Amino acid sequence: MDKDIETTTGLHGGQCHCGGVKFSVKLAEGFDKPVRCNCTMCRMKGAVMVFAEVGSIAVTEGEDLLSTYQFHTNVAKHHFCSRCGIHLFHQRRFDPNLYGVNVAVLDGVSPFDFDEVVVLDGANHPKDSGGGELKVVAKVRVDWL
Ligand SMILES: [Zn+2]
Repeated sequence: MDKDIETTTGLHGGQCHCGGVKFSVKLAEGFDKPVRCNCTMCRMKGAVMVFAEVGSIAVTEGEDLLSTYQFHTNVAKHHFCSRCGIHLFHQRRFDPNLYGVNVAVLDGVSPFDFDEVVVLDGANHPKDSGGGELKVVAKVRVDWL
């Protein structure tokens, strides 16, 4: 990473653009494995994500502003602020015990902080084709000047 961000332990604060929704999160693997996804939803959303176990996100403000979008099998739950529209986190279809957290809404973190971001093949989801792991379709690298 480009910045000295506290990694595996500790709580991170986060909020949407308008500040209406605030939350804290304990990340499952810190910032070690940032990912993007090419599924129909994520390719539009464009978020770089890290993971947190269900139960390790606490919404501390604006729960009434949080809205949820679901599609296809309706397993994944994409949570966003209904006022400013910013996506915060989603409960994963691949593993509903995990949330994917949008790094851009975490305090002091930018999606441009990472040297390499793996792109997962959510477009060809293993749960649509009999199981297995999500494939990696690309690794997006940044060469810092
Ligand atoms: Zn908002």
